[in-house]
Amino acid sequence: MRSHLLNETTADLYRRSVTEGVDRVAAKLATTERPHTGIAVGELAPVINSIDLDKPLEDPAAALDELEEVYLRDAVYFHHPRYLGHLNCPVVIPAVLGEAILSAVNSSLDTWDQSIGGTLIERRLIDWTAGRIGLGPRTDGVFTSGGSQSNFHALLLARDEACRIALQRAHAEGRDLTKADVLPRLRILASEASHFSVRKSAAMLGMGYEAVISVPVDMGRRMDTSALALELESCTRDGLVPMAVVATAGTTDFGSIDPLPEIARLAAEHSTWMHVDAAYGCGLLVSPTRRHLLDGIEHADSVTVDYHKSFFQPVSSSAVLVRERDTLRHATYHADYLNPRRMAEERIPNQVDKSIQTTRRFDALKLWMTLRVMGADGIGSLFDEVVDLAAAGWELLDADPRFEVVVRPTISTLVFRYVPGGDLRPDLVDEANLHARKALFASGEAVVAGTKVDGRQYLKFTLLNPQTTTSDISAVLDLLAVHAEQYLGASLAVHS
Ligand SMILES: *Cc1c(COP(=O)(O)O)cnc(C)c1O
Repeated sequence: MRSHLLNETTADLYRRSVTEGVDRVAAKLATTERPHTGIAVGELAPVINSIDLDKPLEDPAAALDELEEVYLRDAVYFHHPRYLGHLNCPVVIPAVLGEAILSAVNSSLDTWDQSIGGTLIERRLIDWTAGRIGLGPRTDGVFTSGGSQSNFHALLLARDEACRIALQRAHAEGRDLTKADVLPRLRILASEASHFSVRKSAAMLGMGYEAVISVPVDMGRRMDTSALALELESCTRDGLVPMAVVATAGTTDFGSIDPLPEIARLAAEHSTWMHVDAAYGCGLLVSPTRRHLLDGIEHADSVTVDYHKSFFQPVSSSAVLVRERDTLRHATYHADYLNPRRMAEERIPNQVDKSIQTTRRFDALKLWMTLRVMGADGIGSLFDEVVDLAAAGWELLDADPRFEVVVRPTISTLVFRYVPGGDLRPDLVDEANLHARKALFASGEAVVAGTKVDGRQYLKFTLLNPQTTTSDISAVLDLLAVHAEQYLGASLAVHS
């Protein structure tokens, strides 16, 4: 079994195995005609469940043959131009190269003595990202597993800052107060269109879902800042503590960007932490033409970026950044065996001091390789292409009587629904849209997403592939219309 260990004696097997894996994926890319095969859970599950995990195949080639059947053949391929579903991007080759290297070397970025250059590379990328945002001289941050973790981490820091400040004030005024007194009074303000991970974070932080106040959005699905101002005032009036305002720079459904400068002003006025969730919109940081859409983000106390959404990076690759590096201490623990306090005093850079993870992937290498090969403008212009495509897609939808489209896109999503002529029951229209999405998925011809707007069922394109064209969009719209019409035809026939 030692022959499977990656070491000085097995370099040849390593090269052959990995090359063979790469060859299979390359062959797949060359021959994939649809984003997936449309296989159903019920078809695939028995195949996977029948495999005896206690009987290894020994041979990597045999395992790859099997993998073809259980995964590669039916996988959902995000590189396909008709994958328009969720926020998954096609990936760039320098990042995939980085991925192959980081898992083979297998550095763990918790402590310096496990990573050396990896730590410094991650720190450079954090500084680089913070510089693009404009977070100032005292900034810091850390790579995370994704936007949900970044949001959670940022809100944890905001919670502990809010508690610290409240306790400090009480102490100065000679009042007795404990963290347990403060916690139930904390509130997070986020728009109705913000990501669910904000609510989930509040629950995990011991504050409950109710601690998040939903601020209404305007027609463009951006946070209504007059409503925010009113909510902040009523918090103060009711003796509550507005712990954080979460502004979303690129909402998951609409790509809308909350009015960052005005939110920053209100947050400052109420001494409230401003978190910007730019999980999706962060690609604009490198856009050669659209960086201004994020103006105001430089006022944030913390920012979430997901390189695996708009920097064309493989999952996972995300970061949380803060304006004031000292706030990261809320997630610091000095363990004798790993990162004793003495090391911090000696200025040994242990990233675990800043992270909520311990053992942690060197995801930063993927972004590093990408910047070193393609550069920031290269990534940004790819992102610009999908933003342009979404604008063209909106024109198509707006002119098409079969569909109604919600908002003109700021980034690269389109939320729309099939609307049949005539006076059909609204729930039937909902069902037709749901059916169209499902039937399209089952056909494997294309993948689109769905969401609800004001209680009604909508369809959604998330455009992240510069290879997708307006003809792809038109073709997918035709397919959706056919499926919806078929559903309505069948169901009207049943009802008449
Ligand atoms: C996707 C998304 C998240 C969550 O990020 P993950 O990487 O999926 O955990 C958070 N916020 C917004 C706005 C998102 O679009």
